[in-house]
Amino acid sequence: TPQRLSVGLGDRGYDVLVGPGLLARAGGLIGPVLPARKAVVLTDASVAPLHLPALRAGLEAAGFDMLAEVAVPPGEASKDFSRLQEVLETVLSEGLDRRTAVIALGGGVVGDLAGFAAAVAMRGVPFVQIPTTLLAQVDSSVGGKTGVNLRAGKNLAGAFHQPRIVLADTDTLATLPARELRAGYAEVAKHGLLQGALWNWCEQHGTAVVAGESAALTHAVLESCRLKAAVVAADEREESAEGGRALLNLGHTFGHALEAEARFDGTVLHGEAVAVGLGLAASLSARLGHCSQEWPSRVIAHLAACGLPSRIADLPRRFTVEALMGRMAKDKKNRDGKMRFVLMRAAGDCFTSSEVPAEAVTALLRDEG
Ligand code: NAD
Ligand code: ZN
Repeated sequence: TPQRLSVGLGDRGYDVLVGPGLLARAGGLIGPVLPARKAVVLTDASVAPLHLPALRAGLEAAGFDMLAEVAVPPGEASKDFSRLQEVLETVLSEGLDRRTAVIALGGGVVGDLAGFAAAVAMRGVPFVQIPTTLLAQVDSSVGGKTGVNLRAGKNLAGAFHQPRIVLADTDTLATLPARELRAGYAEVAKHGLLQGALWNWCEQHGTAVVAGESAALTHAVLESCRLKAAVVAADEREESAEGGRALLNLGHTFGHALEAEARFDGTVLHGEAVAVGLGLAASLSARLGHCSQEWPSRVIAHLAACGLPSRIADLPRRFTVEALMGRMAKDKKNRDGKMRFVLMRAAGDCFTSSEVPAEAVTALLRDEG
């Protein structure tokens, strides 16, 4: 039996199921939370040949009517308005109605696109997340943020649309490239630093997670989702200025700047940028006197042990301090034009701050770069 945890959002709450072998049982697991046994599946062309047959069998065994299976090209470029329109036209022409569930089978790209399609098709139809990357299992499939990219920036058109259920089948991760698995692990480490006990577990078992060991993966996904579910339940729409979902941005102010500078060209994956960002956030916290030097040392050593870049110098390209500062000054999560950072006193004791002097950040980047 899979591990089960609940995202507490009142009558819109839902369960996250974690464990091996869930695709084959998908119909029986999701049927009870849906209004009808009718579904369309959205996936990508890399995931479809690997995992769609098992999901199809698992749905048909429970009497599901599969109206359509749509595979978009893999990659961030599919989070796009014209792709969204094409998906909507296809599923509506195949007979989607208000009781039909949209099922996302894939990574965060598929999840964000399918979730947005489910949010806007007929003003909202039931949505099911079946994440197949570690990043999607520990992060993007829980929390209800959906959307596509605009020229003005990533994720700037979207909707909050919570899934009815999340099935995190850890077996699907066996086909994930090792680099993608490691990148997803950066978000587990982030959740560990936010939560505390999970960080200690990570230091013990993180290398087993990135090696793809089943029991370690299940624990990492379950405990990551538990942390994220608690944060989301307390601040569903990221309305809290101080804590809440804003804390999930640990490592991301730096990470987004590195990612944007690398222009999403594939040289730096999101999780790799976040890993470096976690090291920088810990280093900044120590420089500002919020924690001892022990913390940046531990964070950097652990991420490196898991095969992740943990310092700017580990990345395959160079960045100027001016370019990174410019990116951070424009971060969409800033308030009143001030850069916002998530800082740490210790694992399990993080906080947001808009009062970090720009000089401290510049000095850190100069010393690190
Ligand atoms: P992704 O969906 O592009 O997947 C990465 C690659 O792995 C793709 O090439 C995909 O085809 C392949 N793949 C997926 N599952 C596989 C499997 N089981 N076996 C083999 N290959 C597989 O990227 P991602 O890292 O999963 O997600 C990144 C996206 O998630 C970004 O667009 C980001 O904005 C979004 N995101 C959303 C949220 C949210 O809260 N909604 C949070 C974090 C990130
Ligand atoms: Zn992230």
